[in-house]
Amino acid sequence: MTHIKIDEGLFLVIGGSFPRCNTLVAIDEEVVVIDPGCNVEDLRALLQQNDLTLRNIDTVILSHIHPDHITHTMRLNRLSNCRIAANEVTAPLFDDKEKMKEFLGFRKGHPVRKLWEQLVNSKMYGALDEGHVDEVLRDGDKFDLGNITLQMLYTPGHLPDHMCIEILESNIVYGSDIDLTEFGPYYGHPNSSISDFKESIHKLQHNNYKALISGHLKEPIIEDYKTALSAYQRQFDIREDMVLAAIMGGAISIPEITMNPIIYPSLANPVFLQFESWMIEHHVESLLTNGLLEKDNSGKIRCP
Ligand SMILES: [Zn+2]
Repeated sequence: MTHIKIDEGLFLVIGGSFPRCNTLVAIDEEVVVIDPGCNVEDLRALLQQNDLTLRNIDTVILSHIHPDHITHTMRLNRLSNCRIAANEVTAPLFDDKEKMKEFLGFRKGHPVRKLWEQLVNSKMYGALDEGHVDEVLRDGDKFDLGNITLQMLYTPGHLPDHMCIEILESNIVYGSDIDLTEFGPYYGHPNSSISDFKESIHKLQHNNYKALISGHLKEPIIEDYKTALSAYQRQFDIREDMVLAAIMGGAISIPEITMNPIIYPSLANPVFLQFESWMIEHHVESLLTNGLLEKDNSGKIRCP
């Protein structure tokens, strides 16, 4: 089964773990596709079962700028001339892919940029296509589709532009990359933020949804999402302990800490080593801020 019905007119096409993501589809007075990162053929099949085609898509909404979430946006736009909607942080990045690359840390001349582009083009082909956002959304904005109302909920941290989307009538939230995977939270870019991520998790925990829809799980509807979010959040502490252990074991810099993988199981691919380094950097910064680590005059990291 490649898709599931969540509620009347509301479906999820299962895309799975990175580099594919789950795609939320609302079929109402309008046909809205959120985060078109799933296999296009699976999306086509779902629409066909509802007597629709890809050409009937009216709107694509993007939860944030990550390539696995925006992959097929421009392909769908070329087919259906659908409008593209994204929040005020995502929109300028989608409109200028050079800005998107800088936002993700891969400025021109960055040593891993070419390998990252190759990864995107081989696994998420189309994500770097130039395009234009037609409708800029803000926190709390509502999308009224007739029987279904979508509401934007800013949840930065994973990236500064990350947002969840609430489905008001169903009292369900699409969590996007607050995805409750075993991997845990991802904050592998220079502008990701552990403290913002934790605040966003708290925001979801304080709302009483019937369920959270994960952007990446194969079994994506999580009813007991508050317990799952607590376990997900513990990954921050587990990783922080491992960073401290590496420093107590003699590591004095980020490259030395990443000699042994903490977050990814293997760091043979330079792109994943870069993501791991950025995530470890966020932990070191947070430990320095909290006084659990210090830097000596030569910049070496150590325990006080
Ligand atoms: Zn993401």
